[in-house]
Amino acid sequence: MGGETVSKRDYYEVLGVSRDASADEVKKAYRRLAREYHPDVNKAPDAEEKFKEIKEAYEVLGDEQKRAQYDRFGHVDPNQGGGFGGGFSGDFGGINDIFDMFFGGGPRRNPNAPQRGSDLQYTLRIDFKDAVFGKETEITIPRTESCDTCGGSGAKPGTKPETCRTCGGSGQQEFVQNTPFGRMVSRRTCSACGGQGQIIREKCGTCGGSGRVKRSRKINVKIPAGVDEGAQLRVSGEGEAGLRGGPPGDLYIVIRVNPHEFFERDGDDIYCEVPLTFTQVALGDEIEIPTLTGKVKLRIPPGTQTGTYFRLKGKGVPRLRGYGQGDQHVKVTVVTPTVLNEEQKELLREFARVSGENVHEGEGKSLFERFKKAFLGD
Ligand SMILES: [Zn+2]
Ligand SMILES: [Zn+2]
Repeated sequence: MGGETVSKRDYYEVLGVSRDASADEVKKAYRRLAREYHPDVNKAPDAEEKFKEIKEAYEVLGDEQKRAQYDRFGHVDPNQGGGFGGGFSGDFGGINDIFDMFFGGGPRRNPNAPQRGSDLQYTLRIDFKDAVFGKETEITIPRTESCDTCGGSGAKPGTKPETCRTCGGSGQQEFVQNTPFGRMVSRRTCSACGGQGQIIREKCGTCGGSGRVKRSRKINVKIPAGVDEGAQLRVSGEGEAGLRGGPPGDLYIVIRVNPHEFFERDGDDIYCEVPLTFTQVALGDEIEIPTLTGKVKLRIPPGTQTGTYFRLKGKGVPRLRGYGQGDQHVKVTVVTPTVLNEEQKELLREFARVSGENVHEGEGKSLFERFKKAFLGD
């Protein structure tokens, strides 16, 4: 891996769907590709890289909001800092800042116009099982709200903000200069009112003239069953208060899921690994497997190889949209015993004899010698 920057492939191209593919088509394409390139299944050297790419593409295209954002802005480099840290889940206030950067300098909007409050982002850590089954919880959001004392005007009750006489309420001062190229008009933020367009003679004692106060607010959040790491829940109108009677922003809750000690999740599917003894897989057995909804019996057929997957249909995660559930995949790993007593060893030797095996116990070096011989031919 060199230090060069590799440009990312188009997410639609990665999933092999058209730009107007429905949410269902995107999901289907993802599930098909994820199955095909899952590193546990596909042993091609680039499978893991491909799988990651597919997952990343689906994380964006599979989410209505992120997809809309991607359609408008394209790839966002999470290392670039700035407003969009970590893709769309970044600071929403930052988007406005970027627009200001691009479009600033031109005619400014009326500083007295109502302004929508900023969106807020809150990261909520939840347990694996709560993500699977959903949960109702209460969170406390520190945010700014409109000041009750002055009704958001910032002026002491009984008084009113006055329109700035220097700028006439526009918040900007114009400077006209005669130059060899003609008259040049430049605009600057009004120095008298600081661009507010109005002056508060007597400030409200509660908010100090800002019209807004910091407050913690408890909000009830319903986490839908089946949410996954990085999911965003939008709570309309629970962001920062607007200015001058503008509507409040929205609250975005970003879900972070704590890992489970036994289960791993991939979309709607659950993966787990069970250690079995040589005897169990050789002779077959019936074992109990923990699932999200309790234990189930799983029959291990005789002659099962290590690394074999068994599927427990419908034992996965409830689908977030639509019906049904994913599956649970159980991977069997055969564990070689590390400590054997003399009787066990004798039985294994007997087993080897009957099987016609030639065992050279504790002769690691000679085994290596034999390999060397086989490969180098001497
Ligand atoms: Zn106030
Ligand atoms: Zn002014």
